[in-house]
Amino acid sequence: MLDQADFLNAVASAECALEPLELLRRCNALEAALGRDRSRERVKGPRTLDLDILLFGTEIIDLPALTVPHPGMTERAFVLRPLLELEPDLADPRTGRVFADFLASVETQGIYPAGLAALY
Ligand code: ATP
Ligand code: CA
Ligand code: CA
Repeated sequence: MLDQADFLNAVASAECALEPLELLRRCNALEAALGRDRSRERVKGPRTLDLDILLFGTEIIDLPALTVPHPGMTERAFVLRPLLELEPDLADPRTGRVFADFLASVETQGIYPAGLAALY
């Protein structure tokens, strides 16, 4: 949704001892703890915090509550850009395509590095 204030995106990488659904449950709990109330927000509108699981190693997960790799990630420059800063050679476990290929085919989508004036 373009009709909203700028928002900050980041990608983090970590080792995880939890099952994927438990990780999702804890992400949702963190969102709620930081004030997110899904019943009061517009779809893709402003929210205090949105934690998505982009990848879980090379696992492919197709559950009603959890799809991994995240289905929107290959179309989102604001996801691909920070992801590739962490791991430039990372590939999509579903297709084997490197994420750098997807980034090359999406628009810049108005993203710019936090704290810098220059556009990507
Ligand atoms: P998008 O997922 O397109 O970025 P969103 O983050 O705005 O949209 P939410 O309202 O935060 O959507 O999440 C809707 C539901 O998506 C969650 O309740 C969760 O069960 C489900 N979901 C499915 N796959 C994932 C995933 N990989 N990471 C986080 N949530 C997921
Ligand atoms: Ca999201
Ligand atoms: Ca989400």
